[in-house]
Amino acid sequence: MAARCVPKLETSTRWDDHALATLQAHGYRSSRPRRAIVQALATRHCGTTARELQGALERAGVRVGVASVYRTLELLADLGLVRRLDLRDGGALFEPALPDGSHHHHLICEACGEVETFEDAALERAITALAQRVRFQVAAHDVTLRGICPDCAARRDAAPADSRGGRR
Ligand SMILES: [Zn+2]
Ligand SMILES: [Zn+2]
Repeated sequence: MAARCVPKLETSTRWDDHALATLQAHGYRSSRPRRAIVQALATRHCGTTARELQGALERAGVRVGVASVYRTLELLADLGLVRRLDLRDGGALFEPALPDGSHHHHLICEACGEVETFEDAALERAITALAQRVRFQVAAHDVTLRGICPDCAARRDAAPADSRGGRR
């Protein structure tokens, strides 16, 4: 998974303090693996998988199984500290949910899995206006655009016509 995402360290530094404080307020002790997961996630502005996170932790000398990384990510998502993005192949990406509500949305390539992010003020205004019209109390939203990234589109255009649609 090649996520073309830039870490935003100034905001994520506050996120890890916020996440650890929220865990503690809910009675979860801050074990070393849990702290390490929060800190590793804080440096990632955009989605990461449980497996990628586990690899990064292992390289930093923190031994923790991928199942326990996944459980911690689910816990953080349940507490509203992490946003979860489900991928079509059954995988999921996790990223910090910043306390100030600032966020981005995603473009996902259906061919190679590349993920890019976008922000759009007009879209946010439209969603806010819509949220006031519907009967639900809207707490959050996700917007994901799926399609083909420029690299995959170029490869597709370059392929000879008779190989298109064939299984390679
Ligand atoms: Zn993201
Ligand atoms: Zn939004």
